[in-house]
Amino acid sequence: MASVLIIGAGGVGRVVAHKCVQNRDTFDKISLASRTLSKCEQIQNEVGKENIDIYQVDADKVDELVKLIEKVKPDVVINVALPYQDLTIMEACLQTGVDYLDTANYEHPDTAKFEYKEQWAYHDKYKEKGIMGLLGSGFDPGVTNVFCAYADQYLFDTIEYIDILDCNAGDHGYPFATNFNPEINLREVSAKGRYWENGKWIETEPMEIKMVWDYPEIGPRDSYLLYHEELESLSKNIKGLKRIRFFMTFSESYLTHMKCLENVGMLRIDEVDFNGCKIVPIQFLKALLPDPASLGPRTKGKTNIGCVIEGVKDGKRKKVYIYNVSDHEKCYQETKAQAVSYTTGVPAVIGAKLMVENIWKKPGVWNMEQFDAKPFMDELNKQGLPWVIKELEV
Ligand code: NDP
Repeated sequence: MASVLIIGAGGVGRVVAHKCVQNRDTFDKISLASRTLSKCEQIQNEVGKENIDIYQVDADKVDELVKLIEKVKPDVVINVALPYQDLTIMEACLQTGVDYLDTANYEHPDTAKFEYKEQWAYHDKYKEKGIMGLLGSGFDPGVTNVFCAYADQYLFDTIEYIDILDCNAGDHGYPFATNFNPEINLREVSAKGRYWENGKWIETEPMEIKMVWDYPEIGPRDSYLLYHEELESLSKNIKGLKRIRFFMTFSESYLTHMKCLENVGMLRIDEVDFNGCKIVPIQFLKALLPDPASLGPRTKGKTNIGCVIEGVKDGKRKKVYIYNVSDHEKCYQETKAQAVSYTTGVPAVIGAKLMVENIWKKPGVWNMEQFDAKPFMDELNKQGLPWVIKELEV
């Protein structure tokens, strides 16, 4: 039995709280902390006061986090605040000797660029302290890494090509909204594309490479090449790999809105002067757009996220497609959050469960593919994210 501290009471935090409560045989003490206490209260009312304790914390401040961790005494901290808080929360876990897990790569608020360098730099310190950090335990990154690891460990002798394919075919009825934090989402999508081939990174213009992929249970969708954080760790950890790319679906309407917002300067992340006030346009835009948490009750349709993996097994070429399909409305019925939050929150809880049960346990800072994929794959089936493996023609 373990004590878990969840930091961040957004869409993903809500799912993590609901799922931890469903796993009371693993987590006998559940605590939730966030910047705005009223958001924690809302979640507490949903899951029952007897199931969860709530706290206010500014996760940008290491000293506040240390005090909170010392008070709550968790075995593991699940960070589902924003990527900007990764380093402060990792530091607080180091100072207090507590295991750490997150779902997104550290990003500096002033630079729209994410990479693992600063989080990997904690590896030796975590190892010395005897604690573990698990990075990117969401869906992508997260489950996509586990799908690749499963293929590498159980289905192939050598993997040569991986395409990660992320389709959200949900419809929320608004002309324009993002399914998770708008600032993080728009920064990611408006950035240049990048993929890894033969040991080198190849950069593309934003949305330059497009293909149409037929997603099971959804149908054909325009899919655009983006840089995504799991490419950095998988290109290092899957030996023999020749190429890895990431594609995400976007509708014409979404891209036209985004281009227009970008052209008028609304995606800028630097401060501008407005009537004597300093504002950051993308943060102002976030205040105007629908709160992703409010999309839950209105979103219909499915998500399909998976990996197409090609390589060699017993001297023969082989190609498999491993994917999960989730239904927005079903996710909402279960956790009061749509599928994008659900598919992120459930793997975070699975990661934490495997850590506290000592199934995934080694001191240091690790990515998902550095563990045996089998127990995680089994838990996905049990915890609401069942997967399918299809053999494709080579
Ligand atoms: P939200 O914006 O809905 O929630 C983030 C929460 O963190 C908010 O409640 C916010 O508080 C809180 N927060 C922000 N800053 C601080 C701070 N300084 N101190 C304390 N709390 C803070 O985001 P999501 O729930 O959609 O996303 C959560 C995380 O999941 C993000 O890091 C995102 O990148 C990641 N993610 C990962 C995916 C994956 O598949 N790997 C997919 C989707 C998301 P407040 O309400 O006061 O603003």
